Formats: sequence, structure tokens, C-alpha cells
Amino acid sequence: MKIARIEVYSVTLPYAGGTYRLSGGRSFTAFAAVFTRVMTECGLEGWGESTPFGSTYIAAHAGGVKAGLAELAPALIGMDPRHHDRIYDAMDAALVGHAHAKTPLDVACWDIAGKAAGLPVCDLLGGRVPGAVPLISSIGSDDPQAMRENVASHRELGFLGHSVKVGSAEAEGGPMLDAERVQACLADRRPGEWFLVDANGGMSPEQALRFLALLPKGLDFTFEAPCASWRETLSLRKRCHVPLLLDELVQSDADIAQAVASDACDGVGLKISKQGGLTPTRRQRDMARAAGLVMSVQDTTGSDIAFAAVLHMAQSTPRHVLRCALDTRSMVSLTTAAFDAPVQGGGAQAPAIPGLGVMPDMSIMGAPIAIYEDTP
Ligand SMILES: [Mg+2]
Repeated sequence: MKIARIEVYSVTLPYAGGTYRLSGGRSFTAFAAVFTRVMTECGLEGWGESTPFGSTYIAAHAGGVKAGLAELAPALIGMDPRHHDRIYDAMDAALVGHAHAKTPLDVACWDIAGKAAGLPVCDLLGGRVPGAVPLISSIGSDDPQAMRENVASHRELGFLGHSVKVGSAEAEGGPMLDAERVQACLADRRPGEWFLVDANGGMSPEQALRFLALLPKGLDFTFEAPCASWRETLSLRKRCHVPLLLDELVQSDADIAQAVASDACDGVGLKISKQGGLTPTRRQRDMARAAGLVMSVQDTTGSDIAFAAVLHMAQSTPRHVLRCALDTRSMVSLTTAAFDAPVQGGGAQAPAIPGLGVMPDMSIMGAPIAIYEDTP
């Protein structure tokens, strides 16, 4: 089987909640998504998506995905899409880094491999773990009472996991406001619920220590990505009594190895496009599992195709290490593909059909913005 043609599509995804606010004064109202359609000479095709969380989240942006694809896609023409590690070797040989640009090609190849084998992608990633994957809410920074109500509305939908965003600027309230937010969000906590308090790297160790000192004892949560650098994180780790989960700092195999070697954390947030697709996410998931780390499986926003990759990865991850997955669909107001994985009781299951199980809506995709194929 050979890759014969790769098409690239670009779609703007409006944020479903108006304005999404993160630490450092960052705000988002829409996300630029890039999709790839990888076509084989035998007629099978696969789809992938890469939707960076704007250009200020990590070193990734939609313009970079498109430019990266121009370097990467020609190198894959003629290759067997089922040879995931060889596909990745070819991408690494064509372009150093740029995990977010490699993602949609890698994911599309897994979609093809599933269709060729007659198996859902989760079965190729290790096999389906029975039952629904627990989903996590995303509670953007806001007035503490509004955040408490946002948690309550997700609780009513059956969500057991909640990701609470903190990292207020000093002028807005700083650690004091963040402590009020966390107490409000955990005020009605029920048994079985799990809370991430996520600063997205927006605190210095000094701010993080002040924030933690303001909280009453006995609040059950995991502190995610308090600081932006390894130095700050390791300094905080030595002086901090709450479990830590790293997200933005962990992007590559080497980052996972460093996190384990320096005992920097108790868990990692894996995001399909941050890690570079399903191939590296699978490897890093297994590295994290071997080290006894818990994990969340997410993406840097995205629509139905991004969520399909998230869900298949999470569906094949043992439950004792998987805390939750993020339904990226809930963050955007546009449906880009049919994907039969409804949210029921705060969870979802990967469909039992070959490949990712997505059917892109070509009226949303529009015309391709780039086409790469073998030109005789
Ligand atoms: Mg995070």
C-alpha cells in the first residue's frame, strides 16, 4: 500500500464559550484548524487534524502546521502508511521538531491502518479497554462563583473530572483570587470526583507557594503545570506538598525521560498534537505508565477529528493510569466530521468501526489549500 496524494484543509473553529481565558492574560475566541486527507493508490484514505491553542500556548501555530506540511508531505508520497515508525523517521528526516505539523499526517496514517486491518484505531494502539472513557471539564478562569456553577453544570452531565484554570495576574487578585477560585470549585466536591488545578505554566514558584499556603488543608486536587520552566518546576517540587502533573513542559520522549529521571511529577498531560501524533503519544504513554505516572489524554483544542484521536488513545489506556480525556468538541461550536461517540454520563466510547470512525463534512472543509502528489 502506498500514499499517492495528500490534501490540506484549513477551517476556523469558533470557541464555544465566547472568550476562553488562561494565565498571563491570554484569551482566545477562535482556533485555526488544519486537516490532512492522506489518500492511497488502493483507494483507502485517512484524516488527521492539528489545531494549536492559538500561537501563545506552546511553540506551535496554525501557520506553522501549514508551512511544516509543505516540508513533510512530499517525503511521505510512495510510503506505506501502516509503517508508523518509518513514516515518523521520514518526517523527522525532512523537518526537525514541529510536532504539531507532523500530527495530522501521523493520525491520518493510523486511520488508514485501521481501515486496512478492519479494526478501530484503539485496537491497534493496544486494544480496547471496555467501558466509557471518563471525560474532563475545562473550567476557564472567571469569577469564583461562576466557576463553581460551571463545575456544577458539568457535574449534572455526569463529569467526574474537572480542570480548573488558575494563574491570575497580581493586579487582578493573584494567588488570593486563585485560592478563592479553587475553594469555590471544590466546595461541592462529590466522592469519585478528580480535580486538576491548571496554571498552564503561568506562576513563578513564589506565586505557586503563596497560592498553596492560602488553601485550607484537606483539599483533594492535583496541581498541573504550575511553572513555565524545568528549573522553576523542580524548585517548587522540592517545597510543595501536593501532587504535580506536567503538561506544556512535556512534549517529547526526552521530556518524559527527564520528568522521570528528575522525579519532577506524579502525572503527565498528553496532548496528541503537542506530542506529535498517535505514534509518539503511544510511546510516551507507555513510558509514563512504566514509571507509575497517571495521565490525562487531551489535545490543544480541536474538533471532531482531533477528539477521535484522543478517544482512541484513551480507550486503549489502562484505567488505573488514565485519569480522563478531554472532549475537544465541547470547546468549539463547529462540527467538522460525523463521529459516533456521544457523551453519556460524563464519558464516551470510541466507535467499533475500522479506523478513527470519522466522516468529514466536505461542505465545512471547503477546497484544499494545498495538494501534494507524485508528479510523473
Ligand atoms: Mg494543562
